[in-house]
Amino acid sequence: MESGKKLTRNDRLMLGGDGRCDSPGHSAKYCTYSLMDLNTKFLIDFSLVQVTQAGNSMRMEKLGLQNCIKSVESGGLEIDILATDRHVQIASMMKKEPEYQHINHQFDVWHLAKSISKKLLRTAKRKECEGLLPWIKSIKNHLWWSSATCNGDSKLLKDKWTSILCHVSNVHCWIPKLTSLCKCAHEPLNEKDVHEIMWLTVGSPPYEALKNVVLNKRLLNDTDDPSFLVDDSTDDDSDSASDSEDESDHRPSKVA
Ligand SMILES: [Zn+2]
Repeated sequence: MESGKKLTRNDRLMLGGDGRCDSPGHSAKYCTYSLMDLNTKFLIDFSLVQVTQAGNSMRMEKLGLQNCIKSVESGGLEIDILATDRHVQIASMMKKEPEYQHINHQFDVWHLAKSISKKLLRTAKRKECEGLLPWIKSIKNHLWWSSATCNGDSKLLKDKWTSILCHVSNVHCWIPKLTSLCKCAHEPLNEKDVHEIMWLTVGSPPYEALKNVVLNKRLLNDTDDPSFLVDDSTDDDSDSASDSEDESDHRPSKVA
């Protein structure tokens, strides 16, 4: 354990978990799973797992996390919240296995934002969807902003997140239907912005592709968790926090 602040048995920990493998997918032989205290940013524990211990490479992350939890709890510390990415086996383990029911498992919004931008990048590689490319960073930031400003209100989070579909099509005020919002949160755009931004046309391939991602059922279900966690300082993406502080940053990077 590496810590300047001594943790005591009374501390209820809020941890972020992340697994790193030596290579992606099925060929990985080693995985390091680490748990970080989200309050102090200190590394609380880590576990190095070999594929031979886990049976196959896809099980290494889960085993790494199990080892870490065991190690932390055997030291008398209590885990209150654990934030991880959307790893299917880990989500299932935390939901179903009795020994983990006392831990509040949440999806880390940064991991989620990263997985969404990866999906959009893949889509934008298709010729007919390349108009999506300049929007990806703003969309990722929009998810962060939606989560950071929803005060734990999952309905508001969803309304804010889905409002990106209006914004990208150059609609910034609308008649509220099922949503609590009626306009974007940014300042009115100046003429130059309106002219230069590569807006997406409703019904066009990039717009429809984005709509599928934004309204993805699994994603919207995840945001139903009222305690959907935001941690705005643990990202490992250099383009993240500083850009995202400005909620008006919903515009694409300029395209040459
Ligand atoms: Zn807007």
